[in-house]
Amino acid sequence: MSAAISKNSKCPVCGSPTAAEPDPFCSRRCADVDLGRWLGGNYSIPGDPAEDEDGVPALPSNDN
Ligand SMILES: [Zn+2]
Repeated sequence: MSAAISKNSKCPVCGSPTAAEPDPFCSRRCADVDLGRWLGGNYSIPGDPAEDEDGVPALPSNDN
């Protein structure tokens, strides 16, 4: 199962068609931009991450 990238790959940053390169980005610059987004937090997953690491129950459904 080798991840063979198709020739018609699109750059996730600018959307330009990338060449047959191992990187999904059209250029090193876009790869850097993508990395910057990750570091900047632009790619934060929509949703609520772990609110409390202690494990506080969200719904106190203490059914006795
Ligand atoms: Zn690009």
